[in-house]
Amino acid sequence: MLIASDNAESTERCAFRPTDAMWREAVSMLCEQCRYFPGCEVIEGMIEMKDGGPWPAGGWVTDPGAGITCLSYQPRDVRTLQIDELDEALENAVEMCGGCAARKGTDASQALHTQRDFRQAVRDRGLFTCHHAGNEGKPCGGWCNAIKRQRVDV
Ligand code: SF4
Repeated sequence: MLIASDNAESTERCAFRPTDAMWREAVSMLCEQCRYFPGCEVIEGMIEMKDGGPWPAGGWVTDPGAGITCLSYQPRDVRTLQIDELDEALENAVEMCGGCAARKGTDASQALHTQRDFRQAVRDRGLFTCHHAGNEGKPCGGWCNAIKRQRVDV
């Protein structure tokens, strides 16, 4: 989901000041997936910024892949798959799609919070699913490749 920003074309990450209209969508996109939500000091700072205060360190910035992201975003824990579950997921993984988080140059490969989600899912062997239309919820092909490489390296 893209959230337009004042600087959506930029590849730089700049401080992002949410408007009232964008607030709900931004919280839903970022904070509701984050391990620090609720009760996060950064989001308190973002509320103050929305109302005219300064940008809080580690706060929301423009993002070349997703419109906006949060520098302090951390994914929630993922459930580590049992060996048989992991084997099944690898068997059922779809081909890497055109927008895959593991494909260089895609929006998902440049979105900071998506990259953190992806890396954690590989590191902890939790399921990472495809978002491509028709394959939603199926094991991601890029994740599958990364897990297989990790297995070879162990
Ligand atoms: S760290 Fe960022 S993404 Fe996470 S809850 Fe706080 S403001 Fe939201």
